[in-house]
Formats: sequence, structure tokens, C-alpha cells
Amino acid sequence: MSGDTHEPVKTICPYCGVGCGIQVQQGDGPGDVQFMPWGGAPVNQGRICIKGGAATEVVDHEDRLTDPLIRDDSGEFREATWEECYEFVVDELERIHESYGPDSMGFFGSSKTMNEENYLLQKLARRYGTNNVDNCTRMCHASTVWALRTSLGAGAMTNSMTDLREECDLFWIQGANPGEQHPIANSQYFRQAVLEGATVIQIDPHANKTTRSFQIDDTERHQHLQLNPGTDIPLLTIVLQTILEHHEANPEDGWIDEAFVEARTEGFEDLKETLADVDKEAAAEECGLPLEKIELAAEKYASADNAAIFTGMGMSQHACGVDNVQNEINLALITGNLGRPGTGVNPLRGQNNVQGTCDVGAMPNVLPGYQLVDDDEARTRVENVWGFEIPDEPGLTNVEISHQFGNAVRGLYVMGENPVMSEPDATSVIERIQDLEFMVVQDIFMTETAEYADVVLPATTWAERDGTVTNTDRRVQRMRGVDKVHENTKHDLEILSTVGMRLFDDGAKHFDFDDPEAVFEELRQVCPSYHGMSYDRLGEDGIQWPCYEPGDEGDPFLYEHEFDTESGKGHIEGISHTPPAETPDDEYPLILTTARLEEHYNTGTMSRRSPTLNRQTPENFVDVHPNDAERYGIEDGDEVVLTSRRGEITVEAQVTDDIKEGVVWTTPHFAAASANVLTNDVLDERAKIPEYKAAAADIEVGITR
Ligand code: SF4
Repeated sequence: MSGDTHEPVKTICPYCGVGCGIQVQQGDGPGDVQFMPWGGAPVNQGRICIKGGAATEVVDHEDRLTDPLIRDDSGEFREATWEECYEFVVDELERIHESYGPDSMGFFGSSKTMNEENYLLQKLARRYGTNNVDNCTRMCHASTVWALRTSLGAGAMTNSMTDLREECDLFWIQGANPGEQHPIANSQYFRQAVLEGATVIQIDPHANKTTRSFQIDDTERHQHLQLNPGTDIPLLTIVLQTILEHHEANPEDGWIDEAFVEARTEGFEDLKETLADVDKEAAAEECGLPLEKIELAAEKYASADNAAIFTGMGMSQHACGVDNVQNEINLALITGNLGRPGTGVNPLRGQNNVQGTCDVGAMPNVLPGYQLVDDDEARTRVENVWGFEIPDEPGLTNVEISHQFGNAVRGLYVMGENPVMSEPDATSVIERIQDLEFMVVQDIFMTETAEYADVVLPATTWAERDGTVTNTDRRVQRMRGVDKVHENTKHDLEILSTVGMRLFDDGAKHFDFDDPEAVFEELRQVCPSYHGMSYDRLGEDGIQWPCYEPGDEGDPFLYEHEFDTESGKGHIEGISHTPPAETPDDEYPLILTTARLEEHYNTGTMSRRSPTLNRQTPENFVDVHPNDAERYGIEDGDEVVLTSRRGEITVEAQVTDDIKEGVVWTTPHFAAASANVLTNDVLDERAKIPEYKAAAADIEVGITR
């Protein structure tokens, strides 16, 4: 590894997508791994949030997997040698290939692992003969990536934290909660802009840390539009229609940027036709908001010099997720808020390498650099570097793979993922996963998913490895590790490399790499937007893609001159409203929506084991509006049973007007009572993202405390 034992090494926080730099210092023994700030870190200049400061707490946690495990005939795990495990894994992969064909395997990459590891996993899947490879971006921003890629060119933030902090006059934050989920981006960048005069329009059914951090109280300046879950399309339709009407009557105000629309977009007429029949009063009623509040927000956005949209999982995690984001793109395009600093459509990515995991091709429809697997030219370019044929049909997404467990899919290779908790309708996932003939899991802890595996391979943590990750504003940064804490664990890259070399006759040719840098060197040959990078060039500051050639500096914002679409134009499209698949009825009269907490992280495998983080919120809870609480006879602190058509969880009620009447709000972090027991696994037709954000639910009092 790169670090001298007692010198701190500069690396990247393993939690959210902001990509804060931190240092890790190894003390006297291998388990003594301490956090240190990194004052010169390019993104955060030494500042960190509670998660970053506690990140090293899990590195030497007593629950770490320290030896490989195989499930024996009694159904129990026993310790095994690496040799035995490799042999078993390779034999099973061969057996499944021979018996059912390559598409009967699924491969899950992980946004918690690095670019090099995800690159090698997707290469392994494709050499095996399948495009059934996916990662957890499917659960968070698959719809955002889809809409941005098809309408603008790249599935990523159009702008960067720095230019937004310096140039943005209006932050339109829809279904995102940077105050909770991206604390350093919020405090160091967005809040600074607001302190210097920028306006915030927040659109969210739940008041949260973002609301409080900007002191949004519906004064003249800022607004919180607390809409009903699943009504973002009607809300944006009102906004678009308001801008259109105003422009027709007052073209001199320039609410619509006619020159930009004419020169750089296509599809405006389609949008106008869709908007022609909009009944704004009825749409506002559906949103549960006064029409004039939405019209005021439209005026603020359209009259700002530079307005930027921030989009989060409140938008993406719907069966209409692609349409939700397309409507945001429509808004930015007709007002000319793209292609310059301080503007854009900006997804805030959740995990420290969710952007990179997609960039390197760990998705069923794209190869590295978002080159479509069914594009013959693109596929041939990659085949020429790899030296083997790539299947030419898109594979299954992770939820589709999960739906086929025991049927079309007989085996699963999991690297650092926890689908038993992360997928919707978790109880049925547990039932289905037991129908697999074979599952291997690489992880640092015995996750809820690993419990069902046939082989569990103990991996090293983020602090023990070298590699690169790509943050929310496309900055590729190096991570550097200290010595291994447990001798018998292995880096994910080494495990994948060994499996690849043993599995295929020509494995040594395709999977023998000396180190992560050697993998990165191959990655840059097949990923155009990374082509100009090298470990040396990344240095300590990293580079924001696209970086096509070795001399390129990278781009802080995209599309200055043209969009990266076939026509070079930004695509506008009229969008019609699709309500959530489940709406309240007599049996389930409430709307359940879900979100994450600052001090926890996804399925909680790391954050629940971190004493500092777990102490903040050790158990799940549900937010209930005071009027609903009164109707159901619920007091603050009561234990309540929250139910949906798929299951029930018992949690503590927090009675608060943070949430809208008729809506209940809970989290997916806690194994004992996860929101995903309740969530609906209906998918967006194109991006296949599940509808985590809206399900019909009911609540009843359990035991009063
Ligand atoms: Fe880590 Fe994100 Fe916190 Fe930065 S803001 S320290 S990247 S969790």
C-alpha cells in the first residue's frame, strides 16, 4: 500500500458523494487507524460532517469479517481457506454457465467500492457473457441518469459546487435535502451563496435540515413548497405554464430565453402543446398547495440571472422518475439556465462513488463512459481493447435480477451490496433470494444479504485500499490506504482478479493486474471521458471529467457550446402526470414516503456499527402530522405499527408538523424496522428505478411508552 506506516495518507471520505478529503493515520498496530483532517483537500479544505469524522470507527470494528466462510451441509457457515473458496466460486460459476447459460448469473457492483473494482466486476460479468451487471445507482438516480443522458448528453451534475457557490442566484431544490445528505456541500458552498444573497426555493413534502439551514419560512425571499408526495409533475407543469403565459404577455421580461431555445434546443412546440390544456387550479389542488405560491416560485426562478436546479431522490425514486427529471430539464432549457456557471440541473449523488460506478460501466445497458452496449460501433471499440466479444443486448437491472431469483437467474455475485435491505418490498426479496442456487458475497461485515450466501469473502475497508472514486460534481480523486487490519482479508480488486484468472482459459490475459493503477490505465483506454487522466495527473486535487486528452484540465460545468446529444441540442419534451402506483384508499388511507438521515448511511452496515453515528439515532421512527396523530389517538413517543400492503414495522412516532397532513415519513437504515419492508417495488418503465417515495399505508398505536 502507499502509506508509510506512521505517516498519514490522504484519502476520500467513504460516505456521501460530496467527496471530502480526509487523512487516515495508522498508529502502533494494524488496527489502530485514526482520522485526521486534511486542510488542503480540494473539495472541503479540511471541514467534515459527523459521518466523515466518524468514518474510521468501523475499520477495526469487532464485527469485521476476518476469514472466508463457506456454508456447509448443515446449513451453517464454517471457516474455509481462500483456496477452497476460490475453487468453489469458480466451480459454481462454471456449473451455472454450463447448465443455464451466462444470463442466469447476476453481478452487483457497489457505489461504496472504487472505480477500478467496479470496472473489473463489470468486465468479469461481460467476459462471463452477460450484461446482467448493475449497482445501487438503480435505487437512487437511475431515472436522473436516464433523463440527463438522453436529453443533455451526460448522466451527471451539469455544474460544480464551486461555480454554483460563486454564480448561482437561485437554488431550486426539489426532492433533495443537502442540509441532511450533503452537509459540507450545503454549508461550504450553497449556504455561502445564500448568505451573499441567493434565494432558495425548496420543494419537498417534509421540512428538514435544508429548510432549517436556510431558515426557509416562506418570507418574501425563500419558499418551501410542501407538496403532496408524487405531485412534482403537476407542480412543475404549473411553473412551466406560468412562465409561458407571462412570456406571451411580457416578452420584454425575458422569462423564456428565446435565443437559447431557438439555437440550442428541440421539442419546445411539443411542450407548449402539452401545457395548452393545463388546469392550473386543479393541478395546484392535487399538489395540496395554493396556486399563487407556485406561481411566485415560477416568477423567482424565471427572473433570476442564474438559477440552478438541484434534484434528489424525491424526484428520481418514482415510477415516473424519468418524467420528473425531464420536467426539470424542460424548465432549465426554456429559461436558458444551462451551459454556464451558476445554473444547470444538478443531481446530488448519495454515495462516495455512485457517479464513478456508473461512469465505469457497472450498468446493464452501458459500457465504460456510458457507451451503449447495443451500439455496434461503441461495443466494437471496447472489444478491440478487451480482446473478447461483449453481449450486444442490455442486461437486467438489479431489481429485475432480483425478480428473477430462482427462475431466469440462478446465481448472484455481490460485491459490497445489501439487496435484502436496499430493495423495496424487502420481505419478498428475502423469500426470493433463498431460491438462488448459488450466491457469493464480498463484504467487510456479515450483512443481512451475506446471511443467505453460500460463500462469504472478507474484504478490506475503504481505509485499507488504493484506488479512485468520482464525486457528485464529476471529480475523480485518489484514495490511499494504510496497512490491512486483518491479514486474511483481501482487497476487492485482488478477489475479482483471482476469480477472473481462474474462471476463464484466457483469464490471465484479461484479469492479471499488478495494482489499481494498472486497472485505471486500462479503464482510461475504454472510457473516453477519463482518457486524459492518470494517477499522476490526478495528484491530490483530482480532475473533473470530461478529460478526453492528457493535456485537458477537466470541466467544472458542461455544455457551454453544445449538448452532447446526437443533434447537439437539448431535448425538451411535454410531460403528462402519472400519479404514484398506489394512492390512499379506505384500507391504507395515508401516503408513506421515505428518506435518509444525516448520521446514517443507506442500509446502515457501517453507520449502525459506528458508536458516534448510532448514538445520534439508534432506532427507526416515523413522523406523523399532529392532525393525523389526533385522529389515530397517537401521542408523541408512542410505539406504533406502520403497515402497507407488503408488511409492517413497529417504530416510535414523532408527532411533528414537519410532515404534511395525510403523509407519514420513515427511513430505510435499520434492519429491525426498515422502511423497505413497506415500500412498493413498482418500477419506472425506462430507468427501472423503484417507487420508494410513495406507497399507501396505515398506522395504529402499539404500546404506549
Ligand atoms: Fe463525508 Fe459527505 Fe460528510 Fe463530506 S459531507 S465528510 S463526503 S459524509
